[in-house]
Amino acid sequence: MEAIFSETRMNYGFEPNENQVMISQMIRDFGEREIRPYMMDWDETQEFPIWLFKKLGDLGLMGVLVPLEYGGSGFGYHEYVTAIEELARIDGSVGLSMAAHNSLCTGHILQFGNEEQKQKYLPKLATAEWIGAWGLTEPNTGSDAGNMKTVAIEDGDHYVINGAKNFITHGISGDVAVVIARTGEVGDSHGMTAFVIERDIEGFSGGRKENKLGMRCSETAEMIFDNCRVPKENILGQVGEGFVQSLKVLDGGRISIAALSLGIAQGAYEASLQYSKEREQFNQPISKFQAISFKLADMATKIEASRLLTHQAAYLKNEGKSVNKESAMAKYYASEVAVAVANEAVQIFGGYGFTKDYPVEKYYRDAKLCTIGEGTSEIQ
Ligand SMILES: Cc1cc2nc3c(=O)[nH]c(=O)nc-3n(C[C@H](O)[C@H](O)[C@H](O)COP(=O)(O)OP(=O)(O)OC[C@H]3O[C@@H](n4cnc5c(N)ncnc54)[C@H](O)[C@@H]3O)c2cc1C
Repeated sequence: MEAIFSETRMNYGFEPNENQVMISQMIRDFGEREIRPYMMDWDETQEFPIWLFKKLGDLGLMGVLVPLEYGGSGFGYHEYVTAIEELARIDGSVGLSMAAHNSLCTGHILQFGNEEQKQKYLPKLATAEWIGAWGLTEPNTGSDAGNMKTVAIEDGDHYVINGAKNFITHGISGDVAVVIARTGEVGDSHGMTAFVIERDIEGFSGGRKENKLGMRCSETAEMIFDNCRVPKENILGQVGEGFVQSLKVLDGGRISIAALSLGIAQGAYEASLQYSKEREQFNQPISKFQAISFKLADMATKIEASRLLTHQAAYLKNEGKSVNKESAMAKYYASEVAVAVANEAVQIFGGYGFTKDYPVEKYYRDAKLCTIGEGTSEIQ
């Protein structure tokens, strides 16, 4: 246990349980073998390595919160936070895709699907036989998602969807998507409905893939609906509940972005700590200079504070309590810390930190998404 969780990590009040220790070790072994050697190539080419996510499915990481009866791992939020943190400690964009699949698409069906829908979709999502997407954001409505323009018009025993969603994780490669569309009046928070839609349905296609600053191996793309006829049995919950459901899904999702931020910050910190001991200037390691060691102390302190906030939200979520405030606080704080820590990490590496020969420039680019996705810092 000590090898994985340092003494400070043991003292945060939520001591890692056996499953967290097992998950950490498993991801560290897997990540060093299957992710670290390839991640800069994926980053360069913006390749979304689907096969990797199938392997994460084999490890139980694509259905972390899905109960065993639906083919998932049946874990709680502490284990989920650990899994995302450990993936992001190596590669934030793998962590982002894993988190979006688990929290958003799968999480929405788990929370609001009926028994038949859960039986149909959860086992395939939990094993990564199917990759999930979740579409709320549109070109003109991000923070103000309730003002969406994509419409679903009732037509017999179907709804016909027209419009476009953008910035959707797995917008092209997702096999199944949860999509929120307007079924009522603009301005009515109960005027939107969530549908679960399979990729091969007529009128549903992927659109433009974004060319991004960071998180480049996580696919981000448009989803387009052109007279897409969706059976009423694909509605999640009741008509009109889609937006309110989404806010609840995002309460859990924000814990996952806090965990993602935590992992990126931890990876950047570890890399710069090691480098500071190896790099010599003025005939001594740069870690001996107080200007550098003060930076490292600040980074470590902020990361521990992020970890406390994130596991506090995880604890409350496991207890079935409201986490609206706590998940927003954790997401806001941890994401800002990830950006600040990655920035200092580049500084500690000096000129080498500005090159792709060392890992910190990638942490720096990836971290920025965390203050934006699933609600910007200002919105939190
Ligand atoms: C890599 C990536 C993956 C994503 N994945 C998904 C996904 O899978 N599914 C999905 O639905 N969406 C996804 N998104 C979309 C993401 O959630 C939105 O980008 C985010 O919510 C911000 O919306 P916006 O980009 O439209 O910014 P805007 O809402 O236009 O905001 C622009 C600026 O204005 C500020 N602002 C807006 N309103 C206020 C206010 N009331 N008070 C103060 N400041 C304000 C914002 O904080 C921000 O600084 C993803 C985005 C990215 C970049």
